[in-house]
Amino acid sequence: MKKSIYGLTIDQLTDWLVEHGQKKFRAQQVWDWLYTKRVDSFSEMKNVNKDCLELLDEHFAIQTLKQAVKQESEDGTIKFLFELEDGNLIETVLMSFHYGLSVCVTTQVGCNIGCSFCASGLLKKNRDLNSGEIVGQIMQVQKFLDGRGQDERVSHIVVMGIGEPFDNYTNLMNFLRVVNDPKGLAIGARHITVSTSGLAHKIYDFADENLQVNLALSLHAPNDELRTQIMKINRAFPIAKLMEALDYYLDKTNRRVTIEYILLKDVNDHQKEALELARLLEKRRHLTYVNLIPYNPVDEHGQYQRSEPEAIRTFFDTLKKKGIHCGVRMELGTDIDAACGQLRSKQIKKRKSAV
Ligand code: SAH
Ligand code: SF4
Repeated sequence: MKKSIYGLTIDQLTDWLVEHGQKKFRAQQVWDWLYTKRVDSFSEMKNVNKDCLELLDEHFAIQTLKQAVKQESEDGTIKFLFELEDGNLIETVLMSFHYGLSVCVTTQVGCNIGCSFCASGLLKKNRDLNSGEIVGQIMQVQKFLDGRGQDERVSHIVVMGIGEPFDNYTNLMNFLRVVNDPKGLAIGARHITVSTSGLAHKIYDFADENLQVNLALSLHAPNDELRTQIMKINRAFPIAKLMEALDYYLDKTNRRVTIEYILLKDVNDHQKEALELARLLEKRRHLTYVNLIPYNPVDEHGQYQRSEPEAIRTFFDTLKKKGIHCGVRMELGTDIDAACGQLRSKQIKKRKSAV
């Protein structure tokens, strides 16, 4: 199976072409056809010499994802289910905001972190996506937008789909460099957010990358006992270790980090936890923003329910009173299983029951 050429950064493409006897300037031409003109086949690259095109065609595919399902929500959110070459299914979501069009991408087939509330964690990780498959999601969505003929472009990316991005670090970094390239899709680093369940050692690496990409940390609980109960990864990376890594990141980048906190009814949504969270973040409050996320119920995790609106409001007010920057995440696409992993797990069940 040929890998997608979308997986190469411009430097890697240049090196590859030169190693294969081609002129250096070809890389920029090919890049332009891929990301500005967005062609679907090498033969459409008009100003590139024939032997270069044959060489590329022999070694690479352009797009390796096939659209399996597309669901459109009343609020304009569109969820795509893509089939990979090996038959695995992944999800990508397109969301429309006042500030632009944002795409949520998947980084792994399944997830090994196994958080107790998450649909993606239900299915063990089958494999990492390569960078071409991650870029391929953005390209599929961008081409869908091109097809609507309204001059729309993907302006924002959230790496919050299926999988733990820091468990697929090299491919994630390649992906970020490709989509951020100013001569390609040129999606601004400040418009990209990577969410992690808290692989502390990778937070240090990410801080050292010298990128302007935003970081979001899925905390979901203010103490180890509770966090371990809902996220078993907390045994390996307890809160003190996470806060050390967070402080390193804040110090190094001076960039504001989003702290994600799913509100689970009667589990982590009491005022006690709000106060504890405020204490934990107190000395970091100038560079943190707490995103309170109303839980999107997952059939298989019946033990969890969404917090009552009253509890959400009290939690929010308590944080605010303590001077913590925070907000409640606006929800999109709940009518189309937009919580991460939901469409995929439903589709897999359907396929299994069909055989
Ligand atoms: N693995 C990474 C990124 C993907 S999950 C991480 O965990 O951060 C992206 C976000 O969606 C995380 O904050 C995750 O906790 C949250 N999430 C997962 N399942 C959810 C659900 N059913 N309802 C609301 N948010 C959910
Ligand atoms: Fe994996 Fe993130 Fe889901 Fe946890 S919340 S199981 S880390 S995708």
